[in-house]
Amino acid sequence: MTDSTDQTSPQHPLVAARTDVGAVRELNEDSYTVLTDPVFLAAVADGMGGHAAGEVASAAAVRALDDGLARLVEAEGGPSLEGLGELVHAAHQAVLEQGPDGSGTTLTLLAALDPAEGRWAVANVGDSRVYRRPAGSAVLQQLTVDHSAVQMLVDAGELTPDEARVHPRRNVITRALGTTEQLVVDVGEVHAVPGDRFLLCSDGLTGELLDEEVLALIEDNTDPQSAVDALVQAALWRGGRDNVTVVLVQIPEDAEAAAEAEPTAG
Ligand code: MN
Repeated sequence: MTDSTDQTSPQHPLVAARTDVGAVRELNEDSYTVLTDPVFLAAVADGMGGHAAGEVASAAAVRALDDGLARLVEAEGGPSLEGLGELVHAAHQAVLEQGPDGSGTTLTLLAALDPAEGRWAVANVGDSRVYRRPAGSAVLQQLTVDHSAVQMLVDAGELTPDEARVHPRRNVITRALGTTEQLVVDVGEVHAVPGDRFLLCSDGLTGELLDEEVLALIEDNTDPQSAVDALVQAALWRGGRDNVTVVLVQIPEDAEAAAEAEPTAG
């Protein structure tokens, strides 16, 4: 299963997205969404639970974002870190109510707080990630911290990030939507400037590729859709052992440049 979108508008960032079942799994339990109304929000969710339960859980989580964002912005007069945290909790409730027993999902999101001022928000639960490739600087910054067993070992100085990536327990996550009543959500503000690129992804990408390989593919492909396609293809060539989902968000250099970009059908 393959899906792809590409959306452009003068007010919003350039976005490309792709999800793929991978080379081994029978079902794609990842979900993603890209919303532009009333504010920009992109999210990736990686469901778990087996027998399609993960697919239901991740779909319920992103649907709750779709359903709740407009209400949140209307109620608060605009998005806030607190409101986005509440939105993730609403997604958690949706997974608890709609997900089969034993199902759960990660969730990571990027949302515009005040894009004219460069104010953006990142939230995450689990081991799906948000990275930034800052404008004019060929580095990849991981903005989220995984909630995973191997991350705890990295924090304790017992593993390096590269060792964690291939560790036998690398798939054990310590926080997920829909698995316990209580949920702690990491939410933070990031400052972005024109030309910055954000990458949201499930662990099907980062489990196959090193950060420097991800960066090299982003550097080689300035067009967001080309970059997304190259990242997914590289993960498949490397083995594609998990579902892989990638959303690339590029803050326009200026409104004129964004307006000139031609939208392409997915
Ligand atoms: Mn995964």
